[in-house]
Amino acid sequence: MANDETVVVIVEDDPNISDLVELYLRRDGFRPYQAETGERALEVISERNPSLILLDVGLPGELDGLDVCRRVRAESAVPIIFLTARDDEIDRVLGLELGADDYVTKPFSPRELVARVKAILRRVEAPRTQPTAIELGNTVVLDSARREVTVNDSPVALATREFDLLRYLAENRGIALSRRQLLDGVWGDEWIGDDRTVDVHVRQLRKKVGDDLSLTTVWGVGYRLD
Ligand code: CA
Repeated sequence: MANDETVVVIVEDDPNISDLVELYLRRDGFRPYQAETGERALEVISERNPSLILLDVGLPGELDGLDVCRRVRAESAVPIIFLTARDDEIDRVLGLELGADDYVTKPFSPRELVARVKAILRRVEAPRTQPTAIELGNTVVLDSARREVTVNDSPVALATREFDLLRYLAENRGIALSRRQLLDGVWGDEWIGDDRTVDVHVRQLRKKVGDDLSLTTVWGVGYRLD
């Protein structure tokens, strides 16, 4: 699936880590590029237009990984996997609702990381054969084939997981789904987090898609889309 057109940008100031990750990505047929600061990352990302970004949280210089994510997200829904060093960084990644698609905690296995990269890209690029557009409320339309959500015909920039979560809720309209069901259905085996993840993504969906999305919190259970 990976070919030499599949560009991955590795943003990481520790050359031991970035060189190792680059080696593994290259071996699997990706075309990796490195950036060691946030400023450089923004340049490389705009030059190379990557299919996915690996983003260290703690970076030297003016911009840390969270700043970079925020700036990238303002313009693009490219999948982002955070590389986090400590629990408090994970909390910041989740708490700031930046729309990361996943995170891995250091030290990580490069092989496992590449497997995650492939899983996310597979999901993003999978062709959809199902009927594609679903109307949610009067103004919201979710189009699986285009991986696009529109409100009043204007596209909404959703991160990969946010889109997948909304699609899963839409496919199960009218059913109250527990956080655990949502984690299983949307994140599957790739996820090693907790229920907060679901809440964070739901909050993002509500904020981005707006009030016309009839997404109800079912107390003691989880969420239901009507
Ligand atoms: Ca670092």
